[in-house]
Amino acid sequence: MDIRIGNGYDVHALQEGLPMWLGGVRIPSDTGFVAHSDGDVAIHALCDALLGALALGDIGHLFPDTAPEWKGIDSKILLRKVVDLVRSNGWRVGNADITIALQRPKLAPHINAMRQTLSAILGVNTDRVSVKATTTERLGFVGRGEGCEVWASALLMQEAENISD
Ligand code: MG
Repeated sequence: MDIRIGNGYDVHALQEGLPMWLGGVRIPSDTGFVAHSDGDVAIHALCDALLGALALGDIGHLFPDTAPEWKGIDSKILLRKVVDLVRSNGWRVGNADITIALQRPKLAPHINAMRQTLSAILGVNTDRVSVKATTTERLGFVGRGEGCEVWASALLMQEAENISD
């Protein structure tokens, strides 16, 4: 069995009056993310981790923010497309681990919903998808409530019969 690992990173600015989507879940909040898509910064980082594992570029390359077709798009659709790409290349997801840095609101009540939503799209059991949240103790742009920062790692596995090189 061959394995690959990838990491992803994304940041979006917060603005009052916008909907907040994180990990495919609508989070009750008076602020949301400024973005061309729905601004789901957690899904964007996860997509980049999956793409990075296979050296397939990044979501900015796959889904340019200049393209009208991606305007306001549900990021779960982008993740499904990335997962399809992973599968069509003969790989499957082993596990994923996501860390979200956000000052507020508290994300603890939403972590399991994110894990369930993401694992369903990735086609794996929930215990293979980790979502962790932290504040930055009021330090930096995250701490000032100006934005959200997310890091993601993903492991991909390829069965021996699919290995061509
Ligand atoms: Mg993004």
